[in-house]
Amino acid sequence: MIYYTLSFAQYYQHLIQVKVRFKAQAQQKIWLPTWIPGSYLIREFAKHIESVKALHIGTGEAIKLHKLTKNQWQLQNTQADEIEVSYQVYAYDLSVRGAYTDDDRLYVNPAAVCIGVEGQEDSAIQLQLDVPESLSRFELVSSMPVVEASNTTYTLNATNYHELIDQPFELAEQTCISFDIENITHRIAISGRHHTDLQRLATDLEKICAAQIRMFGEAPFKDYLFMAMATANSYGGLEHQSSTSLITPRDDLPKSSEPAKPSVNYQRFLGLCSHEYFHAWLVKFIRPHNYVKPNLHQEDYTTLLWIFEGITSYYDDLMLYRSGVIDQNAYIDLVKDQISRYLSNPGRQIQSVAESSFDAWIKYYRPDENTNNAGTSYYNKGALIALCLDLTLRQHGSNLDLLMQALYQRAKNGQHVDEQTLPQLCQQLTGHSLSEFFDNYVDGTTELPLQQLLAEFGVSLHMEHKVWPLGLKVQENPQGLLVQQVLRDSAAAQAGLSCQDIIIALNGLKANTGLLQQLGNHTNAEPRITCHAFRRDELKVLEIQGRGFMTSAAKLLIEDKNRLSQWIDHPAKL
Ligand SMILES: [Zn+2]
Repeated sequence: MIYYTLSFAQYYQHLIQVKVRFKAQAQQKIWLPTWIPGSYLIREFAKHIESVKALHIGTGEAIKLHKLTKNQWQLQNTQADEIEVSYQVYAYDLSVRGAYTDDDRLYVNPAAVCIGVEGQEDSAIQLQLDVPESLSRFELVSSMPVVEASNTTYTLNATNYHELIDQPFELAEQTCISFDIENITHRIAISGRHHTDLQRLATDLEKICAAQIRMFGEAPFKDYLFMAMATANSYGGLEHQSSTSLITPRDDLPKSSEPAKPSVNYQRFLGLCSHEYFHAWLVKFIRPHNYVKPNLHQEDYTTLLWIFEGITSYYDDLMLYRSGVIDQNAYIDLVKDQISRYLSNPGRQIQSVAESSFDAWIKYYRPDENTNNAGTSYYNKGALIALCLDLTLRQHGSNLDLLMQALYQRAKNGQHVDEQTLPQLCQQLTGHSLSEFFDNYVDGTTELPLQQLLAEFGVSLHMEHKVWPLGLKVQENPQGLLVQQVLRDSAAAQAGLSCQDIIIALNGLKANTGLLQQLGNHTNAEPRITCHAFRRDELKVLEIQGRGFMTSAAKLLIEDKNRLSQWIDHPAKL
């Protein structure tokens, strides 16, 4: 057993005191994850660790230690002794990935706070939380079982280190509600300032969860916790085995005035919940083969995030419809938005989703001004590949639900997902090889056959041309037009305009968005425009062949409701 004690006495200056007691092995090492599963970027949690010390519990004698790498420590000359390691952690990260303390909230992802004891990661864990008297009004929420609780002390259990770091907890003043589906208790706990109509939220979420359990046939968890924090405008979610941690704009939460058809804002929150809940099956239970025990010391690469994030993004919206929470038109609108995002991303012609998955660590989580030109999102394009795959499977008498169920059954037998898994399962389900589909759309950059597939299922896709004036995206501010994005090969790119330039005049007139639209929206005519712009503090005069840059937005029309129903209303029979 490994015992962790987290003390929050210095919450006001965002410090957590940690003590870890365990029986050491010879030359014991300790370590901290560099990233947290579900968010594929090296986060360097060890950056916030201070004053690491160790001692023999029996003698009180200090044990020398030194750092081996950025996230590993070597304890010197340890034998099979009972020892205690202590340190403090700076905790002021409001994201769903780290740890945060102040007078309103104590929130911890153990991955960011609790060191691992090398070679003993399978040992059982007891976690004690010491909360100061002044915060005794707080309630604890976590998917970790609580074995003992008083106002100021909580004792929790985790099966092993990997389970520990997959279960964040929050101590705060929350508003809570719960519902049961087939004896599985689902809890919702919301912290932060908000005025949520909890009953409405529980009613809608229950339908969404039930639709997902129905599709898979069963749930891979015994209970589930939605832990949400309401803020002004932060947004994010992280999936766990039997919980999710969410941060949401409070305006996305339903108030008593929420219309019967969910508003766009509320749909966004339901979509986020639906997404993270679906992950309990796809990525937490059905996993990439190398994520069964991921390497948390460094980047752990996979080309498969398009499956785990893309298919999840396809179903998160579809489940809003199948649960009855949104109607057919609202669902088709969500598909339209997804297609428009895809069409306005020229990088889809350069990077495949397999590459985009692999490079998540250096690209997806580190977007810059070149991202839209050269990168593609495994969420957005992944969701549309899932749509195309579903429709293609349906043309062959199968569907994506059956594929999901097959993946789930395989995972129950301990088989996880590699590059061959989906092509093989598709072949089994249809009796046809879909290898061309995967070559073209997953490993390649061939344009997705959306128009033709949607037409088969009663929906016509029309392209609406959109013109980016000169190929620029700008933000108007008092200094002029700040260039935020320059589309590659556009008129602006060819003239040498660059990101962060501030356009102050066009044809000798003070630049504003109206003037830019007027001069740069032409698609055929090619007037020359003289552009004055600052790059840093240096004035440039550039001549631009004033052409706009064409991209497309999608427009979807339902042509045949029966055929559409063959797609979206037909969950697979179990
Ligand atoms: Zn996700």
